[in-house]
Amino acid sequence: MRHDYKLKDYPQGRARRPLRRHHVAAVVSFAVCAGLVALWVDRPAEGKQTAEVARSVQTLPLPPAPAADQAHLPDDLAPGAPAAPSETVAPEPPGERTVLEVRSGDSLDRLFRRHDLSVADLQRLLALKEAAPHLKRVRPGDTFEIHHDGASVLGLTRRLDETRTLVVEQGEAGYEARFLEHPVEIRLAQATGQITSSFYAAGLAAGLSDGTIMRLAGIYAWDIDFALEIRRDDWFAVVYEEIWQDGAKLRDGEIVAAEFSNQGRSFRAVRFPDEDGRASYYTPEGDSMRKAFLRAPVDFTRVSSNFNPNRLHPVLKTKRPHRGVDYAARTGTPIMAAGDGKVISAGTQGGYGKTVVLQHGGNVTTLYAHMSRIGSNAKVGRRVKQGDIIGYVGATGLASGPHLHYEYRVNGVHKNPRTVDLPKAEPVPAARRAEFAAAVAPLIAELDRLGPPLRLAAAD
Ligand SMILES: [Zn+2]
Repeated sequence: MRHDYKLKDYPQGRARRPLRRHHVAAVVSFAVCAGLVALWVDRPAEGKQTAEVARSVQTLPLPPAPAADQAHLPDDLAPGAPAAPSETVAPEPPGERTVLEVRSGDSLDRLFRRHDLSVADLQRLLALKEAAPHLKRVRPGDTFEIHHDGASVLGLTRRLDETRTLVVEQGEAGYEARFLEHPVEIRLAQATGQITSSFYAAGLAAGLSDGTIMRLAGIYAWDIDFALEIRRDDWFAVVYEEIWQDGAKLRDGEIVAAEFSNQGRSFRAVRFPDEDGRASYYTPEGDSMRKAFLRAPVDFTRVSSNFNPNRLHPVLKTKRPHRGVDYAARTGTPIMAAGDGKVISAGTQGGYGKTVVLQHGGNVTTLYAHMSRIGSNAKVGRRVKQGDIIGYVGATGLASGPHLHYEYRVNGVHKNPRTVDLPKAEPVPAARRAEFAAAVAPLIAELDRLGPPLRLAAAD
């Protein structure tokens, strides 16, 4: 079982800032692509998970046990159970409550008519400035709880997202809207594990969710080849967020610090947000854990054609240099921006078929050809971030089968994307080094404290 605790000095305020997460997610999904098959290494003969896991002893105060452990308790004994309201509540107005569910093709108007609710009341609801934006857009599966007396609507409740509910009630002067907040709490949890069969098995044995295991692999995607380089007795320590609400855990959040010891070499990573709140992982010294470019911008099944200046073209059967790498993948497989940059071309280009070209810093351009479809955010002039989806694998133009043709150019000169020296992503800027040092010090202290799993530590 994992131990949850609060790290006293952990900058909670930072963690609560809304972070744009898609970037990290995309990088993780890349790592998953590159590493998924790889996560199983050295499978034991019995096919049994034999990962040895040691956990360090907690000295920090423990919070109440997670909700899952309370499942057998009667509701009134479970600490997380909602308490009966203690304050006096105004007497419930007359009427009944009906949950409306939006079906495909529904508008609110239709929904109201189907349930014989007043459409005039709906118009009055939609006239509420605060409520209208949350009522006008409905999608199949959305639900509304309507408080009504026959056709007459007395009020409405709609859960907007994880942390907010819209409530409309009859007030003195007609409908009034307010929002209920359901704050989430971020708790930190930690785990350590040691690899005996596979990284994935060790992660599960350490109590990590699939998502956290994949995020961990994503952080190290640049340093460790999870297909080829994982060895028995490699170990990891991870400090990660858990998202709790009303005494129950909703899900795992981001990893905030990690250490991976691979073949005796130790890699530490800490999470730190940029000025826009977009977080990346850095070494304790403030260097980025990632490179400025993905080595392969697609989850490929195989390299179907390498960079080769003297190749015979497979379709044209004439000698034509192959100035990129072909990654075979299923039609529709997402293609990611290899690095941060700007879309300078998006459209059909002769034999390349549907193609996107990105301009990056350092006079690097990357080209992605034979797409089945160009991504909706790959519009000329638009900025993209590393890992953003810019299109989907296809076989448009001159292609013998679905694949991504990928080119990497420096000052207009084609380089082999598989071997070119990739620049490092930006380190923590000098102006923020002090802030970085202060923010990550408690995380690094925590990694010091976690250290290798007990079994290894005892063997030293
Ligand atoms: Zn090609």
